[in-house]
Amino acid sequence: MSSLPYSYDAPESQALFDRAAAVTPGGVNSPVRAFRAVGGTPRFMVSGKGAWLTDADGREYVDLVCSWGPMILGHAHPEVIAAVQEAVARGTSFGTPGEGEVALAEEIVARVAPVEQVRLVSSGTEATMSAIRLARGFTQRSKVIKFAGCYHGHVDSLLAAAGSGVATFALPDTPGVTGAQAGDTIVLPYNDLEAVQEAFHRHPGEIACVITEASPGNMGVVPPRPGFNQGLKDACQKNGALYISDEVMTGFRTSRAGWFGVDGVVPDLMTFGKVMGGGFPAAAFGGRADVMAHLAPAGPVYQAGTLSGNPVATAAGLAQLRLLDDAAYDKVNAVSEEIRNLVGEALTKEGVAHRIQTASNMFSVFFTDREVRDYEDARKQDSFRYTAFFHSLLANGVYLPPSSFESWFVSTAHDERAVQQIADALPAAARAAAEATA
Ligand code: PLP
Repeated sequence: MSSLPYSYDAPESQALFDRAAAVTPGGVNSPVRAFRAVGGTPRFMVSGKGAWLTDADGREYVDLVCSWGPMILGHAHPEVIAAVQEAVARGTSFGTPGEGEVALAEEIVARVAPVEQVRLVSSGTEATMSAIRLARGFTQRSKVIKFAGCYHGHVDSLLAAAGSGVATFALPDTPGVTGAQAGDTIVLPYNDLEAVQEAFHRHPGEIACVITEASPGNMGVVPPRPGFNQGLKDACQKNGALYISDEVMTGFRTSRAGWFGVDGVVPDLMTFGKVMGGGFPAAAFGGRADVMAHLAPAGPVYQAGTLSGNPVATAAGLAQLRLLDDAAYDKVNAVSEEIRNLVGEALTKEGVAHRIQTASNMFSVFFTDREVRDYEDARKQDSFRYTAFFHSLLANGVYLPPSSFESWFVSTAHDERAVQQIADALPAAARAAAEATA
């Protein structure tokens, strides 16, 4: 750990954090928000506009987290806000079908060719949990292959070597998941097709599905090697299993059609969240019509939700997706590249070993000089340098993910002023990274 003054300059956030800790475990509603990996006071945000967040102490930050992906148009985009206000004024939940959810489903189906039918849910966790249940129901098999470092939400059976928040806390597994729940999960190294083939060989007729992040962002950004996703698809097809591509993070972010729009590999089922909710709790899973037909009430596999297809959430998601045309992706891709170049230049200037890995406009910085191909590689980086880098940027008004195992996210709202603030803050941060000690 470096000797940065971790609790400086955020008295209002600290007071709120103290209040929160009295009534909420660890003071937060999702672990990574507590800053445990980097230390210091988590910033309590009170507002966001475009690329900027304002905290409880009145300080402004350029936001490079974008709510962990959803805010691809920036905060409080006027057209999304208008759609939400219009929807709210008509009532917030009916528990009946409504046109908004049909329109959002149509938009998803129109954008992502492998999705013939889609079911809306409220979180990415629900989407992956339901997709796994459906795959098991469809194939009448129980085992699931997942990859170390891939996070698919806090689904019991998928909380094994789950990257991200779990990596941050160095928990190999979590108490509360029984052996029976974890026992049907086969965890393999990412980017290793041979391991997948061997697992199919060892468990003939038992594997219901392979679930993978379409391009992982939860161990930092570790894209699939050329042919890896196609190899997964082929192995599944050959062995009667379903190929589930988790696009909760990449969906509608890495292209109009998410990572499918980048590599073109056709999954049997896909999961979505984040961008498609426009900052509200909306998520989805979908895919082959013959598989989706097994879902209740069309088929026997049960799945439901009081707030599924909520009219306010679907209005926000639909407004956001409709604004995401090719020009919007060009803009996000360009600003992502600009920021990556600035980060690379600053770290190189200070002689800091690093690798910036990208998946379209998603990227992350690993403090290592070697390529990161899997979770093992990701864990070998000098995370203590990230801590120093993070705090220096925070002190200078740039908000990074508070963990080195996360992707950075940008938006169409990251304009020249935002990029300039990052450029101004980087030299000191790179120096802090260079000077940090383990
Ligand atoms: N799948 C992936 C790839 C994710 O990145 C996440 C969340 O970060 C999830 C699933 C879970 O989504 P949620 O946090 O909405 O439950």
